[in-house]
Amino acid sequence: MRRKLAAGNWKMNGSIPGLDMISELKLKHPECPCDVLLCPPTPLLTHALQNSAGSPIFIGAQDCHSEAKGAFTGDHSAAMIAEIGATHVIVGHSERREAYGETDAQVAAKARAAHEADLTAIVCIGESLEQREAGEALDVIKTQLAGSVPDGSTAASLVVAYEPIWAIGTGKIPTMEQIAEVHALIRTELGARFGEDAADIRLLYGGSVKPANATDIFALDNVDGALVGGASLSAEDFSPIIEALAAS
Ligand code: PEP
Repeated sequence: MRRKLAAGNWKMNGSIPGLDMISELKLKHPECPCDVLLCPPTPLLTHALQNSAGSPIFIGAQDCHSEAKGAFTGDHSAAMIAEIGATHVIVGHSERREAYGETDAQVAAKARAAHEADLTAIVCIGESLEQREAGEALDVIKTQLAGSVPDGSTAASLVVAYEPIWAIGTGKIPTMEQIAEVHALIRTELGARFGEDAADIRLLYGGSVKPANATDIFALDNVDGALVGGASLSAEDFSPIIEALAAS
């Protein structure tokens, strides 16, 4: 049985006062049949962990370096994230792939570093609009998945997030059939690579998930939750998404 996961990616948004939304979530969801994760910017992680203490809300980072330490100004290692008490790290978000040229191999190296630090890596994959329109989406997903997920991944160390680039922050989402098709493909590909254990790996959909569309998305086979950007910044928006997931 896969435990559902509502994960929030704050990107470069948020502030210390903005972390009050964690207290609101704690009050609204003292017990939840699904996991809730928030990934604020790195300077807010320690404060977020203080705010979430005593609650089932997990805190994670948005990126990590693939090396454990060294002369990498501005970066942080997976072990550093784990040391402060965070539990997850997003790797390979399309914004990092696009803005920093991160390759599948680099994403896999980051996910491997996360595993070694006992963090769960949320590996993001997703096609561009041109690739979708050219009928290449499934091939792109297969290639990214194969290249970005490291050997030895398990349900504890890996979550895969399917995030079509054209759906992120745009208000557009794929059809339910398209989401289901990609998630079924990811499940099959993971099964071929990792065997029976792949059945327990959680698959998230990400891209313009809102309270209004969450119920339909969460009803789909092989959708075990969502990676949510904009709508994870306030309890007002994120809470109904958590409720929709809990009810699915
Ligand atoms: C994201 O940043 O991963 C994301 C899915 O953003 P949004 O929900 O705002 O589309």
